Amino acid sequence: MSKIEIVEWKCPYCGEVSQLREKGQEEAKNHHLENECMRNWNKKNIKWEPLPKYGDLFTIKEFIPNCGLGFIDSDGFGELATKNKTAGIWIKPSDFYEKNIKVDKKFTHIVWFNR
Ligand SMILES: [Zn+2]
Repeated sequence: MSKIEIVEWKCPYCGEVSQLREKGQEEAKNHHLENECMRNWNKKNIKWEPLPKYGDLFTIKEFIPNCGLGFIDSDGFGELATKNKTAGIWIKPSDFYEKNIKVDKKFTHIVWFNR
């Protein structure tokens, strides 16, 4: 029986620590960097999309103080947005209350998707 080797990887950009299978770890790292990493949050080439018909729109000022209170990771996830467009960049409430992430001023809203 071959056992699955797990490696711990800390993203050099956002500091998130992940447990990755040794085999395929490069793909997993690239996936993180392209899709999940907070380094993408403030990037210039955002693919703005119209707001989806589902999901609840909050201003950043409403959302962030309620992370860990009204919004917790197990309840859903959010996307960085403006009042009429979404950047499609996923965030979790703990990004704000654990990692104390700073969001670029161009993101004025969060679209929240309840599970
Ligand atoms: Zn990262």
